[in-house]
Amino acid sequence: MQIFGLLGNPVGHSLSPAMHHAAYSHLGMDAKYITIESEVSDLKEVISGAPKNGISGLNVTIPFKQDVLSYVQTDKIAKRIGAVNTIDFSGENPIGYNTDVAGARRSFEHHDISISGKNSVVLGAGGAGRALAFMLSDEGSHVSIVNRTEDKAHSLSKSVPNSTGYGISSLPNLLIDADILVNTTSVGMGTDISPIPKAFLHPDLVVMDAVYRPLATRLLREAKESGATTIDGVWMLLYQGVESFEIWTGRKAPVSIMNKAVRSQL
Ligand code: NAP
Repeated sequence: MQIFGLLGNPVGHSLSPAMHHAAYSHLGMDAKYITIESEVSDLKEVISGAPKNGISGLNVTIPFKQDVLSYVQTDKIAKRIGAVNTIDFSGENPIGYNTDVAGARRSFEHHDISISGKNSVVLGAGGAGRALAFMLSDEGSHVSIVNRTEDKAHSLSKSVPNSTGYGISSLPNLLIDADILVNTTSVGMGTDISPIPKAFLHPDLVVMDAVYRPLATRLLREAKESGATTIDGVWMLLYQGVESFEIWTGRKAPVSIMNKAVRSQL
């Protein structure tokens, strides 16, 4: 049996086990997806011991996406982002990847939304903000990074080509000419609060929310009411999982099966 899993703390409410088990069952794979709740002091042992415990691949979630960098070799994208969310143990040494970037890109592709030449606003400069800012820039967009702690926006914009950093007060002006808006803050998670007043939203915007609990965040509801196109946070979650599955197994992931499984949990 192949064993994959999720390493984080906490991991109890994760949607990943249902998503990956649906894929294994659909493809008739003898595999299971476990969760490992760890302390930071145990990470080295968990990662170095994974192959002898029969583990072929691990996803990594909050708060360890940066900590695991010390224990894996990274591919080009994970190195640039400075965070790992997927570890593959099939080679001699564990390799760390960041599939949040491809997950975000494939979310836009899925909705037939082109990014090249567009003006994008990324709200937030944490882990998800980094992944989105690099992806949008790589795909040819100018990226305005807006963050509550303005220094973090400036510092991220120094490493993301074709980007500029701003504080929150610049948001209304930036949105006037924006084509794409992505919320990568945790505002709206588990609450009915939007990080952006409805008055700033307009029909020419594509609005993506990285928050997926609830699925229909207030931001997405108000964006829809304003005539904007919306992409919910499950798409990015789904496609980062699809990418991880494909790295670990070398097989094409059953995307629609995994999508159905993850949405049935919400
Ligand atoms: P993080 O690294 O902790 O970053 C949090 C960001 O939110 C920072 O920019 C922070 O600003 C901002 N923020 C927090 N509270 C705020 C508030 N009250 N007002 C304004 N800004 C606020 O977290 P993360 O890993 O990037 O995750 C952010 C969200 O994205 C979470 O809800 C997470 O579940 C979601 N996410 C989704 C996916 C997906 O696949 N859909 C993937 C990754 C993350 P400061 O710098 O000023 O503190």
